[in-house]
Amino acid sequence: MARVLFINCGSEGHINPTIGVVQELISRGEEVVYFTIEDFRERIEKTGATVRTIDSQKFIKAFISGGRNYLHERINGLLNTADIVVPSVLEQIKGEHFDYIIHDSMFGCGRLLAQILKLPAISSCTSFAETKPSFENMLEQLSKKIPTEIGKPIFDEYQRLTEMVKEKYGVEIHSPYEVFCNPAPLTLVYTTREFQPFGESFDQTYKFVGPSISSRFNQENIDLTAIKGKSPIYISLGTVLNQAIDFYKLCFKALGNTDYSVVMSIGNKVQVSDLGEIPKNFVVKNYVPQTELLKYTKLFITHGGMNSTNEGLYYGVPLIVIPQSADQPIIAGQVAKIEAGIQLQMQSLTANQLREAVDHVLNQPSFHNAVANIKESFQKSGGYKRAVDEIFEFKSRYEI
Ligand code: UDP
Repeated sequence: MARVLFINCGSEGHINPTIGVVQELISRGEEVVYFTIEDFRERIEKTGATVRTIDSQKFIKAFISGGRNYLHERINGLLNTADIVVPSVLEQIKGEHFDYIIHDSMFGCGRLLAQILKLPAISSCTSFAETKPSFENMLEQLSKKIPTEIGKPIFDEYQRLTEMVKEKYGVEIHSPYEVFCNPAPLTLVYTTREFQPFGESFDQTYKFVGPSISSRFNQENIDLTAIKGKSPIYISLGTVLNQAIDFYKLCFKALGNTDYSVVMSIGNKVQVSDLGEIPKNFVVKNYVPQTELLKYTKLFITHGGMNSTNEGLYYGVPLIVIPQSADQPIIAGQVAKIEAGIQLQMQSLTANQLREAVDHVLNQPSFHNAVANIKESFQKSGGYKRAVDEIFEFKSRYEI
């Protein structure tokens, strides 16, 4: 049995794929101490892990204070979180021994902690992975678009923050890639190499284990037996950028009072009562057990979050992707490329267009054929069990 330090301060999308991994680690005898934010305590405690928390308000404030307009500012935001995460983790694990660390590939300063604690590290990547050259190339292209008077203070701030990290924590940061992607000797990516853009460019330290889907012990707030027989259309913009009253109303206009049965998850920033009259063929909830629902869903209208996309494809559901930001446009592009669905633009979306897109995807056999193939490859890829096989392989290489 080894003791595992798990660091993950991200939103729900960063947490969900790790649930199965932690459960599986514990069932194979590992002891897991999992650092997260209070919101996810219950979900993670149910896996059998010991949960310790980071102050989410302070963490988000530090991240946002880096700025939100440019990727470079987000990198500074992540560096800002070091002072929230690192002292708190070090204090809470004082005197304890760990054999290895698993950290999120973005949130929680995992790479820093691995270096400070001198622990063999595994990165948990819940989005598409990035190689160093492709990330640096992207950053360089973006740099060119930032006016000098805006860019200079951002770059100066990056220098200041990396120097601060070196001085306070004794760790040298060699590139923004280290901050944003937290590379490690083993990276678990929860999709397939085929779905990953430029999948062939990743070396063997990247393991594409496929979607990690497990029971999340959610409280059921929806009668799935009633919905099961109706094979509904499911609509969700995920858990972060989901404050979209106009979009939800547009869905009513596009699909309300039709023969379609529709389930819509609107997140917890909008109230069901904000949406006015709900068409009879809609069930609207703040949150649904998505991975359960997808088993019966015939079409998923999604923002193209990595998890939602993986989960939809895992269950063989064609997608209409309406990307909002972050990596979602890239994910939407991949979905269109493999013909598992189509992409629409939120800014110019009309009710007619959405309705036509729904009819089109449902009536075109090519989408269903493509999705059936992807479903097979996703289900074969191994998910959290394969992830833990890779972790054990890593352990034996490091003689843990
Ligand atoms: N989710 C859920 N029920 C909901 C909405 C979302 O279970 O009503 C889960 C979904 O299954 C996925 C995660 O929340 O695992 C959302 O992650 P994703 O990467 O798709 O998007 P994000 O929320 O990060 O934008």
